[in-house]
Amino acid sequence: MKAEIIAVGTELLLGQIVNTNARYLSQGLAAIGIDVYFQTVVGDNSARIRQAIDIARSRADVLLFTGGLGPTMDDLTKDVLADYLGRKMTLHEPTMKVMEELFASRGSHMVESNRRQANWIEGSIPLENTAGLAVGNALEQDGTRYVLLPGPPKEMMPMFEGPASRWLLSELGAGAPLHSRILRFAGIGESKLEHELIDLIEAQSDPTIAPYAKEGEVALRISSKSADEAAALAKIEDTAQQIRSRLGDYIYAEEDISLEEAVLRLLRSRRMRVSVAESCTGGLLAELITGVPGSSGEFLGGIVTYTNTMKNRLLGIPLEQLEGPGAPGAVSESTAALMARRVAETTGSDWGVSVTGVAGPGTTEGKPVGLVHLGIARKDGEADVFTINVGGNRDTVRIRAAKYALYQLWL
Ligand code: ATP
Ligand code: MG
Repeated sequence: MKAEIIAVGTELLLGQIVNTNARYLSQGLAAIGIDVYFQTVVGDNSARIRQAIDIARSRADVLLFTGGLGPTMDDLTKDVLADYLGRKMTLHEPTMKVMEELFASRGSHMVESNRRQANWIEGSIPLENTAGLAVGNALEQDGTRYVLLPGPPKEMMPMFEGPASRWLLSELGAGAPLHSRILRFAGIGESKLEHELIDLIEAQSDPTIAPYAKEGEVALRISSKSADEAAALAKIEDTAQQIRSRLGDYIYAEEDISLEEAVLRLLRSRRMRVSVAESCTGGLLAELITGVPGSSGEFLGGIVTYTNTMKNRLLGIPLEQLEGPGAPGAVSESTAALMARRVAETTGSDWGVSVTGVAGPGTTEGKPVGLVHLGIARKDGEADVFTINVGGNRDTVRIRAAKYALYQLWL
């Protein structure tokens, strides 16, 4: 099956946002055995979206759309596709119910534009959105498959990984990889991972190994098309074992869970609790942890100390540690250790985790962008510190720093 990814959004054409969804979806499709032949970007304009559909239909079997499922007038993808295919739009009742309850609980009224998010194309399969309101769509017509996903990566990724992938695999039928296993990595970048496994990746035809990256983590899917189940599983296990022997320290799970979920599970099994003190990540670490349902059992709290004054006032770090001639500075291993110790003490946690670094774009204390120090302190006051140099822009540095802190906690 040949796929074309169609990213819809004028913001993309204006260069206001980067088309990270296309990269993610290309990797995700490859991992389930679908070849991507084209990526298209089109603005929020009915005529041009129709044109993009026309062209894509002529050269691909699967059209995967992202963006334009929201409530506003410039969100056109669903309406244009329904019209193109001569289908009606109907209300997706379960989504409507959720929205009604949500608005009622907030004591506010739903306006007509909100309703649009619960619309779906008649006869299509609704794809559940676990992170937002807009429902996705999957359908087949005249031999072409259409999948509609939302634009925001946080909504698009779980919808793709869950219901959309399942639907695509069922549509692939005999061509689908029959057996697969996922290995999830942390503490290692995509390029290093590929470098370490390049001989395996290139040599393998059955099973195949497909890497894909998302927000500071990398996953590998090992898939076999072999019809003989026992043989397929043995081949997959053999490949997994070769990967484990090379990179075992970086594998945090062999199932579909995020690093923060894996860390929380581990803490739960050990009956331990954690708290965080953050500087350059500005609360991102706490945000990742609290994004996992039930995290209150293991997560006590976090402190964001962005300035030196706040590091001093809220964590009691001496100013002479942070500034002045000869001081180690806020971005230093000794400050990371102190932050971790102080937050563990203050909150009474088993573990205190700290992050301090230079997110950029400018340097801090003459230190380079991407330099990050992490501290992990135990209750007894002993602390380990780690230093990493991460590449990329401000967003990338922050997410990698937060994920690396989780990785150290997992280790
Ligand atoms: P919403 O309900 O938020 O309006 P939507 O499905 O209508 O969602 P868009 O309006 O197209 O999606 O985009 C919403 C936001 O999602 C964008 O502002 C951008 O931050 C993000 N986004 C959209 N498309 C992409 C893309 N291709 N790559 C990365 N981010 C994207
Ligand atoms: Mg929108």
